[in-house]
Amino acid sequence: MIPKNVSELTKETYENALKSGALKLTETESKKLKDSQSAMQYLVSYAPSLADKPESNESENKEDPFANPEKDLVVLEDLNGDGKYQLLLNKYPVIPEHTLLVTKEFQNQSSALAPSDLLVAYKYLCRIDDEDEDIRNLVFFNSGEQSGSSQNHKHLQSFKIPSKFTTFQDRLCNGKEHFLPTFNQEPLQDDKVSFAHFVLPLPENPDDVDEDLLAMCYISLLQRSLTFFQDWLNENPDLTKSYNVLLTKKWICVIPRSHAKFNDDELSLSINAAGYAGLVLAKDKKTFEKLNETPDLVDKALFECGFPSTAGQKPTEYHY
Ligand code: AMP
Repeated sequence: MIPKNVSELTKETYENALKSGALKLTETESKKLKDSQSAMQYLVSYAPSLADKPESNESENKEDPFANPEKDLVVLEDLNGDGKYQLLLNKYPVIPEHTLLVTKEFQNQSSALAPSDLLVAYKYLCRIDDEDEDIRNLVFFNSGEQSGSSQNHKHLQSFKIPSKFTTFQDRLCNGKEHFLPTFNQEPLQDDKVSFAHFVLPLPENPDDVDEDLLAMCYISLLQRSLTFFQDWLNENPDLTKSYNVLLTKKWICVIPRSHAKFNDDELSLSINAAGYAGLVLAKDKKTFEKLNETPDLVDKALFECGFPSTAGQKPTEYHY
């Protein structure tokens, strides 16, 4: 069982780690924007101090930082009382109390999520969300070369969804009952959103959510995402299986990914799962200013880093 006071423990560990210098919060300036086509909300943040930082701690990447984590960053050595997961703090947060749910034993980040991974993430959300206080969290998983991940040791991540921020998945699932996809009922897709995404509402009552249900949701969404890698292989033989999983207490979403970064003359953006909830981090001022001027460019980047939406299309028998 996850301890009831996990939120308090996280806060305490975070404050101590800030004091000891084990972690440093990167200050950001943020702007809430909206896409003109899809009405998707974006929170675009700019972190001036990241402008000079090398890409995704490549130099720190060689060793596994989660094998023997820094003591000051450990919230719980055994998150769930089963010896399988540890709860750590992100050493380089942009959002306070950004946590990592890390497997104790090394497993590859590109391996599929196990039913127990999904359940521990869901149970964790049940502990840390607080409807009365309007506290909602996002758990996410970046898997594969183009997903925006940087560490190979299996980890899910979590942080608070900014207050009064509505993701397009929230809007899509609003008032919808849980279902499992069938040949006649595809996962939810917002037909105004340009990039491929597959979403399922979760049961309202947490007692109705177990390993089997979460595993069936995940597999059915992953299956549809894998179809893209099959379909686009001729066009792009270097394509590797990459995807993001986003999980809240209300819904689960899988996004197939084609690129980790978007670059053109105007913009340079690295995008992971958080981007597909509308939370985007600009590392340079030019990109931040450009996105403020033309919010629809966020959609362009999300589209280019994903695949075209298949909303409204019927799956064929050749698909997974
Ligand atoms: P990802 O980039 O999606 O694979 O997530 C890995 C996370 O681990 C990033 O948010 C990093 O900031 C974080 N990270 C990198 N090195 C460490 C470390 N030594 N201790 C804790 N977190 C780390």
